[in-house]
Amino acid sequence: MSSDPVRDSIQWLRNLYGDRLFLPPSAAPSSSHTASAPAANTAANKTSRSSSPKAPVRSETAGGEAQKVVEATEAQQELPMADTLFPADEGIAPDWEEAQNLEELYQRIHQCRRCGLWQHRTNFVFGVGNPGADIMFVGEGPGADEDRLGEPFVGRAGQLLNKILAAMGLRRDEVYIANVVKCRPPGNRTPLPEEIIRCIPFLWKQIELIDPRFIVALGATAANALLKGNYKMGEIRGRAIPFDNGKRTLIATYHPAALLRNPGWKRKTWEDMQLLMRLYQQWKQQQTDEQ
Ligand code: SF4
Repeated sequence: MSSDPVRDSIQWLRNLYGDRLFLPPSAAPSSSHTASAPAANTAANKTSRSSSPKAPVRSETAGGEAQKVVEATEAQQELPMADTLFPADEGIAPDWEEAQNLEELYQRIHQCRRCGLWQHRTNFVFGVGNPGADIMFVGEGPGADEDRLGEPFVGRAGQLLNKILAAMGLRRDEVYIANVVKCRPPGNRTPLPEEIIRCIPFLWKQIELIDPRFIVALGATAANALLKGNYKMGEIRGRAIPFDNGKRTLIATYHPAALLRNPGWKRKTWEDMQLLMRLYQQWKQQQTDEQ
């Protein structure tokens, strides 16, 4: 298994696009925004390759049955696209990956113009919640309300997420909530893989700083971005997926916006959240027993 997150990401693109892999001009930084010093670019490129959760290789069902669902693909050939995927880190401090806390990270990346989505944002939507949360929720990207207010999950889908949290006995400020991409895709379209790959190093850094024990991927886009896979939700939900070399557990479930369109999925989502709470209580009990 490759241990280089950039190679993993490029391989993920290849898995998705195959021979059709290309970088559309709209996603590539325009020449009018290439003022970053080459040295800064090089440093940021180097650091953006240094840490990321590894793709998990096994998952467990609620009953504890081990089941192989995700297997990272071996990088089979040289991947010369890294410099194209991570070109000039426009608007990003060259030492962004050295940030020691979320506030420092925000200050270093919130003017990012690494992909074309910056042109559509009113606000950079960083994330919100407890910086030491045990549970982190990850969606795909900001919508119109989030873009306007600069906070993730504040529209109708956010209100539903708040209700789900309340039913789990959690407050919104006890968990951390973020998205895979920090700027709103136009028309609320799904972020492109190229946009995800450019933005997700910021999420990896957030995960590193928050160090949550559990990550809930809301929707297939977030789940596939985190797992570097191409799965349908039905293939990966309902399971506890070891993540980040087993440091964390990932649970994938439906995005609240999808639940608004398909209320029939609420029961499965609630089953997933019950699984999460069972595992969370077990983990907390273990922490208590070890003290
Ligand atoms: S979506 Fe992410 S990578 Fe693209 S401009 Fe916004 S912060 Fe930068």
